[in-house]
Amino acid sequence: MTDTSFTYDGLPGRVRFGRGVARAQLSEELDSLGWRRVLLVVTRQERRMAEELVGTAMDRVVAVFDNVRPHVPQEVAYAATDLARTYAVDGVLSVGGGSTTGTAKAVSLTTGLPILAVPTTYAGSEMTPVWGLTSDGHKVTGRSLDVLPRVVIYDPDLVESLPRDLAVASSLNAMAHCVEALWTPASNPVTRATALEGVRALSEGLVTLADGGADSADQLLLGAYLAGSAFAVAGSGLHHKLCHILGGAFDLPHAQTHAAILPHVLTFNQQALPVRVAGQLADALDCSEASDGLRRLYRRVGAGAGLSDAGLTSDQLRTAIELATNRLPIVNPRPVEADDIETLLTSAYDGIN
Ligand code: NAD
Repeated sequence: MTDTSFTYDGLPGRVRFGRGVARAQLSEELDSLGWRRVLLVVTRQERRMAEELVGTAMDRVVAVFDNVRPHVPQEVAYAATDLARTYAVDGVLSVGGGSTTGTAKAVSLTTGLPILAVPTTYAGSEMTPVWGLTSDGHKVTGRSLDVLPRVVIYDPDLVESLPRDLAVASSLNAMAHCVEALWTPASNPVTRATALEGVRALSEGLVTLADGGADSADQLLLGAYLAGSAFAVAGSGLHHKLCHILGGAFDLPHAQTHAAILPHVLTFNQQALPVRVAGQLADALDCSEASDGLRRLYRRVGAGAGLSDAGLTSDQLRTAIELATNRLPIVNPRPVEADDIETLLTSAYDGIN
């Protein structure tokens, strides 16, 4: 008989989703949380947008931290945490992409303060209990339920301002969460169902974006939510390990790195996926074969850029191969050898055409 047993660690959290909900419901959500003194975490670029969004609730924003930087450098985490302590806030409101959510999480990690997250990219960090901090070019990550946002408000209006290339790369970052959630050791029927629905939503959203349709953001943001939820429980594997090494060592842009690596890892892994799962993924990508379907989608949205386009030099490629090889063995549906790492990273460096 087939073994159908599994363990599923569900995660708590409240989600509101819809166009206009951020502006309309933010005050109500702050009231429900009972927050009178709020720290707003935001980038300088998004600060005006966030303040307009918060609107009348700005009277309870007692401090703003807008020195967000990618991959949450330790000194940024200290500065944001100091601000939270100095102003004795009740909670942290983060409005922005994964770097902003990551900064709010760093505050939460040391203070235990709760987070209300309003994401403005498709990174998905808002659904996960994973935090990350960088010092001396080395990124450390960990899991803590303290950093999992209590409330997440997804509003497609807020992602409309993403430049097209970033919208595509960020959606493919979400796609990577879904695809990897199909094969990690903690993957289970619940995360797979969530991940496959995420693949469908992201794929539809990307096609709509490519065709110039007006409502791509609704599908993409829904896909990002599902992707983050699946990733939060299933955890990471080969794909995320490679991205993590590249991001930490060479400060490459996060979303573009994920986008460049994903098709190559999928090509490598798809033959080791259970036939049923490979078929479901292919279906979700509307193709008879998953890897072909993903590459077809990449071409449709013009996402063939490789790691070289993301800023990796050929010397850094050699170092990346060495760093990744030193991390072997990596838990994966099929064994990963040093040669595989070299092939994977070299093809990701070149991109797809
Ligand atoms: P980001 O937050 O760095 O944002 C990228 C750029 O987009 C920034 O310049 C930002 O100002 C801009 N931007 C954000 N929203 C915008 C909008 N609506 N319109 C126009 N510009 C906008 O990048 P990201 O890809 O969202 O997040 C990457 C970070 O998130 C990485 O550090 C990564 O490790 C982390 N992350 C963490 C998890 C987790 O579970 N902990 C999951 C995914 C990503």
